[in-house]
Amino acid sequence: MQRLIGAHTSTAGGLQNALYEGKRLGCTAVQIFTASPRQWKPTPVAPEQVAKLQQARRETGIECVVSHAAYLINLAAPDPETRRKSLEAYRAELQRCAALGIRYAVVHMGSHPDFETGMQLLIASLRDLLAELPDGVHITMETMAGQGSALCYRFEHFAQILDALPDERLVICADSCHLFAAGYELRVPEAYEAVWEAFDRLVGLSRLRVWHLNDSKKPFGSRVDRHEHIGEGELGESAFRLILNDPRFASLPMLIETPDEQRFSEDLAKLWRWAGVPAPEQLDAPTAV
Ligand SMILES: [Zn+2]
Ligand SMILES: [Zn+2]
Repeated sequence: MQRLIGAHTSTAGGLQNALYEGKRLGCTAVQIFTASPRQWKPTPVAPEQVAKLQQARRETGIECVVSHAAYLINLAAPDPETRRKSLEAYRAELQRCAALGIRYAVVHMGSHPDFETGMQLLIASLRDLLAELPDGVHITMETMAGQGSALCYRFEHFAQILDALPDERLVICADSCHLFAAGYELRVPEAYEAVWEAFDRLVGLSRLRVWHLNDSKKPFGSRVDRHEHIGEGELGESAFRLILNDPRFASLPMLIETPDEQRFSEDLAKLWRWAGVPAPEQLDAPTAV
């Protein structure tokens, strides 16, 4: 089975370019924004865009594409208008994913100054989204660092959602930086095992479908979300080796979102090396038309 290791790559000039860029960098999977991540306007996908992405999949061999929803989206927003726009924007994201053949639409869990009220709003939002979720697409909930009034930085928070909404189309994206900042120790084998024992008990390992591999600039339990290049932060090589060599995660896409894209290929080379798998051939992109 091919390992799925890649990066969040740029869609400048068309979604297909993220795959050609991924191929250049040594990726076997990519994450993309299917629309501008900093605007509300829900944009549908043009049919020619679907065809170009399919062609890029064939030409690069990169089949696995994950989407990341806009950062503006707050499904637990205290302001009803912001929450309404968030629902509309993420619903449009899920529809674009269906059109593009993308299974996983990663989304942040939002924030609210009152935690319990926020959780109830979030659950209500997810219930609405599930009611109209297109076939084949999964609402992919990202584990958060717990910065400010962010929700869902503990496995218990996801357990609360899944108790209210026991739906198999709700799945998880684990972010190594966020987990560590939230107080989940990933650097030493015994603590690492305890983290996944807790995750399995509270959430279920089968829910985990996507990894974000980022090192952390900030220390353990800081609850601050600052990504660092692979092996250069507080997590370091040991944590990535544990994750990369964990057979439970071997089939999952593992995607970097490190600060400087000029250094993506360096970060990716480390991951391939620590996974003990030869990196894929890095080919130049076919000339874009
Ligand atoms: Zn994210
Ligand atoms: Zn982050």
